[in-house]
Amino acid sequence: MNKNIDVNYKNQKRYKTAKYPIRQPWCLTWLIWILSFFALLFKKKKIEKINMEFLKVPYMLLSNHMSFIDFELTALATHPKRVNNVVNIDGFYKRAWLLEWIGAICTRKFTSDIHLIKSIRKVLKRGNILCMYPEARYSPCGTTSYLPDSLGQLIKMNRVPVVVCIHRGNYLHAPFWNFRKKRKVPLYSTYTQILTAEQIEKLSVQEINDIVRKAFEYDEYKYQKENGILITEKYRAEGLHKILYKCPHCMAESQMTSSGATLKCKKCGKEYLLNEDGTISAINGDTEFSHIPDWFEWEREQVKIEIENGTYYFSDEVDVHSMPRTNRFEALGKARLTHDSEKGFVLEGFYRGQEYRIQREPIQINSLHVEYDFPHIKPYDCIDISTENDSFYCFPTKENVVTKLAFATEIIFQRKYETTRKMKNAK
Ligand SMILES: [Zn+2]
Repeated sequence: MNKNIDVNYKNQKRYKTAKYPIRQPWCLTWLIWILSFFALLFKKKKIEKINMEFLKVPYMLLSNHMSFIDFELTALATHPKRVNNVVNIDGFYKRAWLLEWIGAICTRKFTSDIHLIKSIRKVLKRGNILCMYPEARYSPCGTTSYLPDSLGQLIKMNRVPVVVCIHRGNYLHAPFWNFRKKRKVPLYSTYTQILTAEQIEKLSVQEINDIVRKAFEYDEYKYQKENGILITEKYRAEGLHKILYKCPHCMAESQMTSSGATLKCKKCGKEYLLNEDGTISAINGDTEFSHIPDWFEWEREQVKIEIENGTYYFSDEVDVHSMPRTNRFEALGKARLTHDSEKGFVLEGFYRGQEYRIQREPIQINSLHVEYDFPHIKPYDCIDISTENDSFYCFPTKENVVTKLAFATEIIFQRKYETTRKMKNAK
């Protein structure tokens, strides 16, 4: 049974994401540039433009996403042209007027937002730059996240040049799992025109996706090693256990902790040191993974095995705060969240005398919005399950489970997607 029952809100109004962004006023383009200039004034940075000499607006700018600094760097790189950014609804929290004023396009993450496509088209027709972060969330491990196939369709449909921006150093400077404590790392961003309008005309969607994916390959730890960047801050490993949640020695999950420059498994006691060059060494015994992304991808493989042999199942009591409108979060209290490969996510709770049930089937959610230290409500791990007109921020009771949920979401989606595609092709 897939039956969604809406939350019984007193105020039934929702923030309308289905509206066109305004054209950014010139004065604001300048103001954003000035603010970004001063915010980055004392940061060591380099912006390089490749194959951009003869590029004219409009174009699509696809960027990897690591921290808020990405917006500021892009403001410097694109000045004095107008840019419309695609922004998730929580970015509009308590300042929707401001975001609307600068021409941001509001969406709810990992939902099928038809109007988003219309808004993108409108911006490009006006002759402006459309900036989006197709991975749709901060990179958890400093490597490429999931890029949907629909990206190629979007590019093909709009037939304007495509620029890919790859930020390097931003993740090392402010890793998503401990973004409040910055590290001294130089920032280096490249803006490369990878496709002209003429090329897009001739290429297939598949070929476009291949080119975009190739251009989107990045690995912050590899970059750190190759460029001899040393991160000497004593707190450099604090928070790392949020992405490295599984012990490769005793296989225990959610038992990893971190402090200072070390990681430790509470279950078996094995300890690891995060070296200044970004590599990992076991303090006692063998080093299973010296490269952090290898550890991360190994965890993904472990989740895949569970899904394939049918043992994957998640259930927990969560504290839910929803966002039907942008002015406040609604505290919905405790609810039950389950996740498996058949039903996807099911959130069941009780609010103002009535039950509610929110389901996102595997094929409806290709990746998961995870927050490690949510800047709103309370600074803990949470996941956001969005529908087309509401967003549910769920804080689990179980510790350190959100990274695994994100892996599972992507794997389960991928399996369903492949099966559906094969069935379509067979017809
Ligand atoms: Zn262990």
